[in-house]
Amino acid sequence: MGLVHDVGEDWFDQEPRCAKHAHLEALKTCARCGTFCCESCLTQAWCEACAGLVMRDHLPGTARSVAWKLLIAPLFFVGSSLYWLARGNELPALAVFWFLPLVCSVIVARRFSPAAAWTGAVSSLLLLGWQALTLFTAGEEMRLIDVALLAIAPVLALNGASHLSKLFARVRVLNAVT
Ligand SMILES: [Zn+2]
Ligand SMILES: [Zn+2]
Repeated sequence: MGLVHDVGEDWFDQEPRCAKHAHLEALKTCARCGTFCCESCLTQAWCEACAGLVMRDHLPGTARSVAWKLLIAPLFFVGSSLYWLARGNELPALAVFWFLPLVCSVIVARRFSPAAAWTGAVSSLLLLGWQALTLFTAGEEMRLIDVALLAIAPVLALNGASHLSKLFARVRVLNAVT
């Protein structure tokens, strides 16, 4: 009887082991599938496979939010340029360059491209910098506030671009494995 008892106790006493590394103690379980994971196998709250899936699910949403942030400043400038044209003025040279972040925004939305996100955000900030300089030399300092407000979206897009790069790298690793 003692023997049976020992075997049972042995079974229940066993520490949970990592599903991938049988020699390592599992410290946590994956928040998605419940697999036992050792410290090195756990990516944030998920096992490696689930982390990839979670990232892949997040990719379109993140890309969309970056695309929107990239769109705000160019739309404002395209709109104000059209207004400017409608009033019989000539289009300022700067207006043409706003097509770059505009195109980048479309590429990010359709292809989730981190390169397009970086290009769009950086070019927007450079264009706003140029705009600020133009206003400053023209003595229109009051309008610098508008430029500063318009800079908020590309700054957020910059942050989003870095997030997108990380997600994209993870998903690519996952696709290479499977
Ligand atoms: Zn999992
Ligand atoms: Zn492990």
